[in-house]
Amino acid sequence: MVLGAWKRWRRARTLRRHPLSAAEWQEALGDVPLTRTLAGAELDRLRELATLFVRENDFAGVRGFVLTPRHARAIAIQACLPVLELGLDAYGGSHSIVVYPGEFRTDRRWEDEHGIVHVDRDPQSGEAWPEGPVVLSWADVAESAEHPFDGYNVVIHEFAHKLDMRGGDANGTPPLHRDMDAGTWQRAFAGAYAHHCAQVDAAVETALDEYAAESPGEFFAVMSEYFFEAPDLLHREYPDVYGQLRLYYRQDPLRRLERVPPDELDASG
Ligand SMILES: [Zn+2]
Repeated sequence: MVLGAWKRWRRARTLRRHPLSAAEWQEALGDVPLTRTLAGAELDRLRELATLFVRENDFAGVRGFVLTPRHARAIAIQACLPVLELGLDAYGGSHSIVVYPGEFRTDRRWEDEHGIVHVDRDPQSGEAWPEGPVVLSWADVAESAEHPFDGYNVVIHEFAHKLDMRGGDANGTPPLHRDMDAGTWQRAFAGAYAHHCAQVDAAVETALDEYAAESPGEFFAVMSEYFFEAPDLLHREYPDVYGQLRLYYRQDPLRRLERVPPDELDASG
């Protein structure tokens, strides 16, 4: 309780002393056009969260990437959208956010069933480490921001993993709220995941990104991207998953799409 009160006091002070200026905020909204789906109190809350996010997390550019406050604000806005109704503490404390100019390679060691250790060095657009940093490719962050309704957003993806990791492994089930039912969540996600994997295995063209078939953890992260960027598509393909994510994120992005002219939605698809 004492810690909570102190944190609230410190955050109130940050908002008082270091608010994003009107010019910074307008610039950031322009950089992240997905915010056009928000209005009124939602925008005010996003502005507060983004202000705190920039102050409470460490941002570092690597491999020659010169990270400016404007970059940090664009990342902050996209990272704060999923926790708009949950608060920053849903991410479990502050993080280091490491930004490469473009895709990066990290050694990924894994052991197969014969005990042989493999090292993969696939190019990555983002990465989230348990108890560690979130790593992002700026080229992918910029692309995510520029195309608000295509269902691809590397920032939302990696921060969805962070939420998932609050429950231990990134296994596709973050800690659920008390008013949610674990069985209903499991049925919705297991059914959709099985369906998606079967389509990928059968080489059927999938409406949602094939990458979601990698694991239940990736499925949750990719469905979270669609939930915020292409809720109409997710709702059409997997309505039960949409319903569970609506309860989990405590947001209804499908309703927000009503604020966007239909031709803009088509244009970005
Ligand atoms: Zn992932």
